[in-house]
Amino acid sequence: MPEIIVLMGPQGAGKGTQAHLLAERFNLPLVATGDILREMALSDAPLGLQIRAVQAAGQLVSDDILAEVVKTRLSRSDCEAGCILDGFPRTLPQAKLLESIAGDLGHRITVMSIELPREFLFKRLAGRQTCGVCGAIYNEYFKPGKKEGVCDVDGQALFTRSDDNEESIAQRLSLYDEKTRPLLDYYASLGRLQRVDGTGAPDEVFGRIVKILGKQTASDAS
Ligand SMILES: [Zn+2]
Repeated sequence: MPEIIVLMGPQGAGKGTQAHLLAERFNLPLVATGDILREMALSDAPLGLQIRAVQAAGQLVSDDILAEVVKTRLSRSDCEAGCILDGFPRTLPQAKLLESIAGDLGHRITVMSIELPREFLFKRLAGRQTCGVCGAIYNEYFKPGKKEGVCDVDGQALFTRSDDNEESIAQRLSLYDEKTRPLLDYYASLGRLQRVDGTGAPDEVFGRIVKILGKQTASDAS
C-alpha cells in the first residue's frame, strides 16, 4: 500500500536529515509544505492566486488552503507510490484533513515521531557553536573544540547564535510539546503512531526508522 510517511520531531531532533535519507532510500518525493507553498504561490492557477492574496494581506494560509495545496501536490503522479511529508500536519484540524486526502488517494499514513530526552535536545541546541570565519560547527557538550571557544581549523573564536540562549530554547521545546501532544494522541488512537528513539548518530536513527517500516511491510504481506 502506498505510504505517506509523516515526520515529526522537535528542533534539534534531526528531522530534516531523516526526511532526506528516507526520500533517497525509498525513492519517494520529499514533500515539505513550506517549499510547495512557495512554489504554488508563484503559479497563476486559482490556488496560487488565493495563496498570494492571503499572503499580501499579511495573513496566515488557512487550514483549508493548506489542505488543498497538500492534496494537489500528493495527487501528482510522482506521489503514486507514496511520499515523505515534512511540515504538515501541525494541528488537529490539519491532521483530519490529511486523513481524508489519504483516504481519497488510497494511501496509508504512518507517523514517525523522532523523540529525544529533553535534557539531550537542550544540550544539542544550547551547546551549538559556530566559527565565524570558516563556519565549522561545534557543540560545547558533544563536540567541543580542542581548546575551549576556539576553532580547531583556524584558531578563530566560536560564537553562539543569539536565539540559542537557554531561555528561548526551553520555550521553543515546551511550545513544541504543547502543540504536538494532541496530534500524537490522535495518531496513537488511530494506530498510526511510531515513536522513534532519536538518540545517537543520524544513521543509527535512520536504521531504526527503516526497521519499523520493514516490519510494517512484512505484516502487510502476511
Ligand atoms: Zn574556523
